[in-house]
Amino acid sequence: MPPALKNDLPARRLREREREKEALLKFPVEELVNIIMDVGFSCDLCAKCCTRAFNGHVLLLDDEAARIKDRYPAALEPVPFFDFCDQEGTFYVSGYTIRTVKDKVGSCWFLERGRCTVYEFRPRVCRIYPYMLHREPDESGRVDWRQISGLNQHGEYHREISREYANQIARDVIAFEKAVLEHEIAFLEATGSFFARKGLFHVRKMYDNQIKRLAHGISVPVRVYSHGSFDQWITDGKVTKRQMVE
Ligand code: SF4
Repeated sequence: MPPALKNDLPARRLREREREKEALLKFPVEELVNIIMDVGFSCDLCAKCCTRAFNGHVLLLDDEAARIKDRYPAALEPVPFFDFCDQEGTFYVSGYTIRTVKDKVGSCWFLERGRCTVYEFRPRVCRIYPYMLHREPDESGRVDWRQISGLNQHGEYHREISREYANQIARDVIAFEKAVLEHEIAFLEATGSFFARKGLFHVRKMYDNQIKRLAHGISVPVRVYSHGSFDQWITDGKVTKRQMVE
């Protein structure tokens, strides 16, 4: 296969993210404000949102990952979903998340007795939650905009929210989603140029093989995108550690 085609996957994903960003910036803010006011979400402190079972991982932007690394280094780990795997068996992920503890629901490292212990310090995704602005498939596979995460599965609804406050939430959500897409675009650009420089490419079969090795507890290398370059980690699927190499 010609090298240009071998490296087409990061480039294709890059184009998708750029289209998503364009669509996000065209979304009418007023419509999001009205949805936020109609839904009238109010947190009932159930703390479900702070567990991996309910919500997947906490998405950290580069500056947030750096702050957590400085103050709470043990709380940081690579995002648990691998985007690519090169022909040498190294996975690539887009950044960092907050580690979870080993309880039944995968509670956030910072959650204690149902409360966030770093509330003033919490990352942006925790501040805007449960609001979002993504295009996602529903249960029937139909892709459309989603504005509230876990609708009707947590919290209380139909509380009064002022237009001024809803407006502030809507602007914060769009700014956050834009920052996330820009981070992903930077990751995909960096992966594409790293692959081109090192003669690497994504290999689906190697990806599947490495997933099988992980299932047997065998360690595999992971490159984690951060601030324009890649940090080297190693994981056996249970424990993920930073490696001092390269
Ligand atoms: S940082 Fe705090 S608010 Fe965010 S998921 Fe963890 S416990 Fe919850």
